[in-house]
Amino acid sequence: MHETAIAEQILRTALPLAQENGAVRILEIRLEIGVLSGVVPSYLEHALKELSRGTAAEGAKVAASYVPPQIRCEACGAESEGRRGLYVCPVCGSEKIRLTGGSGYKLTDLLVE
Ligand SMILES: [Zn+2]
Repeated sequence: MHETAIAEQILRTALPLAQENGAVRILEIRLEIGVLSGVVPSYLEHALKELSRGTAAEGAKVAASYVPPQIRCEACGAESEGRRGLYVCPVCGSEKIRLTGGSGYKLTDLLVE
């Protein structure tokens, strides 16, 4: 269950960040999750809830938004949004595609008080 590891990493980033900004409590954690990352949001939310107990992030809301796959065409260099399972350059039709995004996750914003 890699959601626990991800939740740990998110808190490791979020907690010092909140502290640096003089926040006493984290109200909301905003994340971007790539649709190809395999992260199950409800598991991640649950893991965050468990791990944040006793920290400034306890009870924080988790707001996750999804990022579609990003592709880059090796033939013409065009960057575009890929559709799962079908990676063809919309500009030149080439199938020489490199995945450049949508497989990771990112902490985008913290709502604090
Ligand atoms: Zn192309």
